[in-house]
Amino acid sequence: MAEQVFQPLPTVPDHPSLEEEVLEWWEREGIFDRLRERNRGGPIFSFIDGPVTANKTLAVHTAWGRTLKDVFQRYKALRGFDQRYQNGFDCQGLWIEVGVEHELGFNSKREIEEYGLDKFARKCRDAVVWSAEELWKGSKRLGMWMDWGNDYFTFSDTNIEYVWRFLKTVHERGWLVMGHRSTEWCPRCGTSLSQHELSQSGVYQERLDPSLFVRFPVLDRHGESLVIWTTTPWTLPANVAAAVKPDAEYGRRASGEWVAVALYPDEDYEERLPGSALVGWRYSGPFDTLPPGAAVEHRVIPWDEVTLDQGTGIVHIAPGCGGEDFELSKVHDLPVLMPVDESGRFYDDYGWLHGLSTVEATDQIVGNLGERGLLVQATTYAHPYPHCWRCDTPLIFRIADDWLISVRDLRQQMLDANATVAWTPEYMGKRMDDWLRNMGDWNISRRRYYGLPLPFYPCACGHLNVIGSRAELEERALGGLDQLEELRRPWIDRVPIGCEACGEPVERVLEVGDVWLDAGIVPFSTLGWQNPEWVPQGYATGAARGLTTADLPDHAYWEQWFPADWVSEMREQIRLWFYSQLFMSVVLTGRAPFRQVLGYEKMLDETGREMHGSWGNMIEAEDAFARMGADVMRWQYCAQLPSQNLLFGFHAADQIKGKLLRLWNSVTFFVSYANIVSFRPSWTELEPGGELRPLDRWLVERTHAFVKDAEASYEAFLANDVIRHFEAYLDDLSNWYIRRSRRRFWNGEPEALETLWYALVQALRVVAPLMPFLTEHLWRNLVAGACADAPASVFLAPWPEVADPDRALLAEIAGVRAVVELARSARGEAGIKNRQPLRKLVIEGAPGVESHADEIADELNVKEVEFGPVESELRVKPNLPVLGPKLGKELGAVRAALAAGEFEELPGGRFRAAGRELEPDEVLVERTGREGWAVASADGVAVALEKRLDDELRLEADALDLIRTVNVMRKDAGLELTDRIVLTVPESLAAVVDQFGDRVKSEVLAVELRTGRAGDISIEKA
Ligand SMILES: [Zn+2]
Ligand SMILES: [Zn+2]
Repeated sequence: MAEQVFQPLPTVPDHPSLEEEVLEWWEREGIFDRLRERNRGGPIFSFIDGPVTANKTLAVHTAWGRTLKDVFQRYKALRGFDQRYQNGFDCQGLWIEVGVEHELGFNSKREIEEYGLDKFARKCRDAVVWSAEELWKGSKRLGMWMDWGNDYFTFSDTNIEYVWRFLKTVHERGWLVMGHRSTEWCPRCGTSLSQHELSQSGVYQERLDPSLFVRFPVLDRHGESLVIWTTTPWTLPANVAAAVKPDAEYGRRASGEWVAVALYPDEDYEERLPGSALVGWRYSGPFDTLPPGAAVEHRVIPWDEVTLDQGTGIVHIAPGCGGEDFELSKVHDLPVLMPVDESGRFYDDYGWLHGLSTVEATDQIVGNLGERGLLVQATTYAHPYPHCWRCDTPLIFRIADDWLISVRDLRQQMLDANATVAWTPEYMGKRMDDWLRNMGDWNISRRRYYGLPLPFYPCACGHLNVIGSRAELEERALGGLDQLEELRRPWIDRVPIGCEACGEPVERVLEVGDVWLDAGIVPFSTLGWQNPEWVPQGYATGAARGLTTADLPDHAYWEQWFPADWVSEMREQIRLWFYSQLFMSVVLTGRAPFRQVLGYEKMLDETGREMHGSWGNMIEAEDAFARMGADVMRWQYCAQLPSQNLLFGFHAADQIKGKLLRLWNSVTFFVSYANIVSFRPSWTELEPGGELRPLDRWLVERTHAFVKDAEASYEAFLANDVIRHFEAYLDDLSNWYIRRSRRRFWNGEPEALETLWYALVQALRVVAPLMPFLTEHLWRNLVAGACADAPASVFLAPWPEVADPDRALLAEIAGVRAVVELARSARGEAGIKNRQPLRKLVIEGAPGVESHADEIADELNVKEVEFGPVESELRVKPNLPVLGPKLGKELGAVRAALAAGEFEELPGGRFRAAGRELEPDEVLVERTGREGWAVASADGVAVALEKRLDDELRLEADALDLIRTVNVMRKDAGLELTDRIVLTVPESLAAVVDQFGDRVKSEVLAVELRTGRAGDISIEKA
């Protein structure tokens, strides 16, 4: 028995089990550590990982981003780049609070306070620790190589101090302001939301609200009233004014009701007036029966923004319950009534509404208006309405005092900084510009518990103290330092400081910070910006102690690693993490924190729906690992165009498995024949040399082209292009090179084995970053196991260096393959099987393939190939979906000319008709051959196959059929590829034996070919 250089492979790979095995081997052999060691001191590739919110297990959504990050880090590692590999967790904020509230069965802030803020903070930290462990486990299973254990946790005191320093800088520059304004408010969470929080997906949901038309009686015009429209009845008790459009026309109905004429054009009016004439009218408010309303003088005000699309053209204004209303109150000096408290319940001066929520109050308000004859009409109205992104409660507007960072002076600087960033896809950079142009001040305060404590200490003397570091806090503290376990609530609240203006004791405001402050500071806090001395484990402070061993580097390190060469997150992060990082970086350094960004769109299920736990279409990462395997998931993620939504699922996974099987089968083919002759490759002489056949030379060049094309795609951060190149390469490898070379492998030809081995090895190296498990598994078999001097892991071999490919040769063979495909389709159309030899093939319009006539004849099973005109009748029709939009009215003329045969054929598959030149994709071409010929054409190439058969051709077809049948029988009988047989065929095949016996014998490895009396074909091992 020959020496088995390579391990024989099973017929199909078991992805999950080979992946577990590779993971275990990487761990045991310390492959990742060895890779990092090898690259240490090399050129720097700085990647900064956006923090994952630590409140969940690994979801297939998160695995998408993690895969892309891993793919490009692995690629850069193959190219010798030194990298940090620091993973990060987002550990504070409402996501985590709301999860813990849910776990404890709480539904209000009061319950949290009764439970105790210190216990609550500990519970939240426990949730983070649990989630971090889950995310580590899932990410490792995905194949993500990170410096696990050196992660950054945003609740670290170090991170908090860095945000403080940022806030102090903002204050020193005069950008920190206290805003008193109307804001979107979640009554359950008891806090306002920022503009970027509202921009997250899922915030706007379709909702059915009451639709009320309400009459406001006009005071000085007896029997007349203004009619307004509202979908938020709870705001009516806060009404102070009614707005009209000054230049619109208003009309009075017979009932005395005033409405805009444009909205009710078909009604009869008793009087018509411009809106400007209504301005100043006084009216009695809808809830003057309650004290706050009774104290207001309600009047009509002008407002150019009044819409005439819906409603009545008269708008109810409640400055305490709406953003625009609040702005109008400043212009017209209107009183501001704020009817509900933090939890969205009516204050006690609202009488019978006291204590009701805005939802509970609705029925009472509608009923009361009806009883008093003020309701004109009450129905319902469906519209998109904002909901809290954390708890799904419908939002309301409330006046709140929030801490804001003014963007007035920063906007242009941020736009300039963004102009230095290369965005992929490009449109995402434009989205960022749009956002920067339109964003309002950054609302950084939240009235919550578990979050970054804002270091603001406003003193009664009017001075605002802002603390910028722990040292400063300790220096100015008046007590409470002994109990300061972490720089967080509730401990920090017990440390009063002395006011720097008047010396009096001051307490911290109770608000915590927007979670995006925590994440935005990461490029500074983890890299040691302005830190004088390197502190071992200096990041493992406060709540992060014991969770990580991350150091706090020094400023020189920051200089080296900032800005990031590359960051990658989903598109939503434009207004979130990308934005907060850019904001903070522009404040601190005046420049962008990243050079290149890869964004990507959303993940949906296979049918294009959002995935939701409650819809039953959610895929857990664990399930996906078990049912498809990490490599298949990674392929699915990588193949996705970043500008399109990814439809993730198991059907797509099955298709990908099929594609990977092609690679697997090519390797299996190689291993089978290489083992027969004990072929042993050489790692040091990787590229085949010596006398290569043209086909071998072509595969070497084709491989060079694949490496170069993939390299360009990786450099552009386009994994989908790498996959596209890989699929094309695999097709050329298996459907051309291997198909065309089978006989040489049967003979154990060393050049063929060397060439195929080279191609497979290079392919593994190129796609290793995408599918690290399968490639590593095959590498260990094909390379490390066979060559003593080869690297143990594909990741310890550098990126392949290859010469520039011979593109002319490649184009030539691409032409040959195109001709073959065309001829196959002509055969298929004519219903002639491939095993039936034919006399002649005529080829027209494929320059460069002439020297390959023999190959084409052999591949297509024809006796003769001729280059010349293909006689045929050509029918050309417009490709309407393409040509229609392009030509518009002219389409008719072109269509008529084509139908009448009045067209001219141009080179390259183009046509001219009715004075227009038509591209190949703009027309549908049909060719009918002469009698007895099968014809096909595409892209300017035409082929014709002669269909006529004679006895000799028929007999040869029988011989080929026999060869195929016998080879199937050999396989079924479990014979080795090298086993010789004795073949017996029935008398009826005597003519075949007579004429093609030798050929049959050699193709089926028969040492003897007998003719039996009758019956079936039989084989016997010789
Ligand atoms: Zn909420
Ligand atoms: Zn003071």
